[in-house]
Amino acid sequence: MSEPLLKITNLHAVIAEDGTEILKGLDLEIEAGKIHAIMGPNGSGKSTLSKVMAGHPAYEVTEGEVLFRGRNLLELEVDERARQGLFLAFQYPVDIPGVSIANFMRAAMQAKKPGEEVDIFDFQEELLERMKLLDMDPAFASRSVNDGFSGGEKKRNEILQMAMLQPVLSVMDETDSGLDIDALKVVSDGVNRLHEERPESAYLLITHYQRILNYVKPDVVHVMVSGRIVETGGPELAHQLEAHGYEEWRVDAVAPAV
Ligand code: ADP
Ligand code: MG
Repeated sequence: MSEPLLKITNLHAVIAEDGTEILKGLDLEIEAGKIHAIMGPNGSGKSTLSKVMAGHPAYEVTEGEVLFRGRNLLELEVDERARQGLFLAFQYPVDIPGVSIANFMRAAMQAKKPGEEVDIFDFQEELLERMKLLDMDPAFASRSVNDGFSGGEKKRNEILQMAMLQPVLSVMDETDSGLDIDALKVVSDGVNRLHEERPESAYLLITHYQRILNYVKPDVVHVMVSGRIVETGGPELAHQLEAHGYEEWRVDAVAPAV
């Protein structure tokens, strides 16, 4: 069997400031072209996992390994991770007033190809083409990044970035939380279209709710509780969770509340 795209082994990570351990021996494998979902209760460490993968300075990895395309992800500079084809959409995207989507996207494309001039006309053509694929209004490209965006527009922007950057693996943290049904459909349709267009692209949807999984069909579902993946299965696992919750795995969750 070929090497998985992402292979996380016994990952331990602490909050750098106070040493509190959040990830407690997490294992995860994702193969090219697959759609994975991580589901877990609030506070189980899902966002921490995505931030550790992004190289967020608030966390320190104390043990374990993250291989991405056979390379040690944790040793790569943050921009190098993106260049290798890793894309992370955060739970709380930042606003960049005054920077248009088009300019932001062009800078991101440029960063992906250092030393190569991204042709402005090719770029615009591609941007419009991608927006069409995602059913987006071309006027959207001239808006400032996330400034005054509705939840749905922020998500649309993330999906557009994914469409332009063509990542090998897109990690989407709680992309569905707080979204109305229209915004949820933007995200789901976007992921489905991008996956259809590039079947070798992989996705990791991190979510508290089962809702998004009605629209994006995962190949593999993982359950995360207390900093670890405690169960891996097929799509049926998501439905099981919806019906029964996470109680089954919570035996060791009687740790004192902070
Ligand atoms: P999830 O995304 O699954 O809800 P998080 O990864 O956001 O969980 O958080 C896991 C636990 O770690 C929570 O109890 C949270 O309060 C704590 N935590 C995460 N990051 C920090 C931080 N930078 N400082 C303090 N506590 C944190
Ligand atoms: Mg979270």
